[in-house]
Amino acid sequence: MRPHPFRVLDIAEEIPGCMTMRVAPDGAGGDAAFAPGQFYMVYVFGHGEVPISVSGDPVKSGELTFTVMAVGSVTQALCAVKPGAVIGLRGPFGSAWPVEAAKGRDVIVMAGGLGLAPLRPSIYRLLHDRNDYGDIALLYGTRQPDRIVFPQELADWRDEALIDVDVTVDTAGRDWPGKVGVVTELLKGRDVDPGRTSALICGPEIMMRFSAYALLDRGVAAENIHVSMERNMKCAVKMCGRCQYGPFFVCADGPVFAFDRVQRLFRTRDV
Ligand SMILES: Cc1cc2nc3c(=O)[nH]c(=O)nc-3n(C[C@H](O)[C@H](O)[C@H](O)COP(=O)(O)OP(=O)(O)OC[C@H]3O[C@@H](n4cnc5c(N)ncnc54)[C@H](O)[C@@H]3O)c2cc1C
Repeated sequence: MRPHPFRVLDIAEEIPGCMTMRVAPDGAGGDAAFAPGQFYMVYVFGHGEVPISVSGDPVKSGELTFTVMAVGSVTQALCAVKPGAVIGLRGPFGSAWPVEAAKGRDVIVMAGGLGLAPLRPSIYRLLHDRNDYGDIALLYGTRQPDRIVFPQELADWRDEALIDVDVTVDTAGRDWPGKVGVVTELLKGRDVDPGRTSALICGPEIMMRFSAYALLDRGVAAENIHVSMERNMKCAVKMCGRCQYGPFFVCADGPVFAFDRVQRLFRTRDV
């Protein structure tokens, strides 16, 4: 339960209201090893503690990257920290994206808005072990062109052609040369071999629901579709009960769930 001190190495605006920061252990005790999909409890001293997924490369040792949207008191304070500041970290916590189990298979990564941040470590991992996978597609949808996170990396991944990157926005001006529409539109006309496809989905719950059902419609089995859930939490160690989600605790049973485990809960409002 005790946070370890981490020093902020750098912090930069990702999109308005959202910052990406790199941190490293400040002294002994802090562990910067994590699996893609896991999160840390991030403590801003004097403000409080919030769960934040790691958005950086799992292979880079000795540092962690977080991408944080300022929505309330703690995340606003976190987005305002300066390089050199010390924050507290507990973790890593939670389940991971099944990148090992997906070896030998095609992988579809579907991200909505800031949902690309918790998925980014899995994309790095897929790229590091590129030859172990079949086709890899990243289907990314966000509200407007100026809400696209990690635009340079998306362009690099597209240029390198190691993964098929397809981006769409909900609305755009005439100067936007790309696609307009919801992210599930990007599945239409795409070759999906349901028997050998694993899918990783992260974004607003409505986006995950439509994306999962679109994949089910294409014949992908629910156990091969994974979603990442967000619920308010305090302890992150399955004690406080704040993040209870049906029979699960998001902090320990999740945040990444195979869709067959949570499909019933997705059908129920306000779980
Ligand atoms: C496992 C997990 C991983 C997460 N990873 C990230 C991440 O990588 N980056 C990130 O920015 N956030 C992430 N979050 C969400 C983040 O923890 C919350 O935004 C944060 O707890 C809000 O705390 P606050 O004190 O800033 O806001 P509060 O004061 O608690 O809330 C302020 C307002 O924002 C609303 N709010 C709270 N949470 C959210 C939310 N998630 N989205 C929209 N509105 C919200 C509240 O309803 C309230 O109206 C994650 C959450 C979980 C459970």
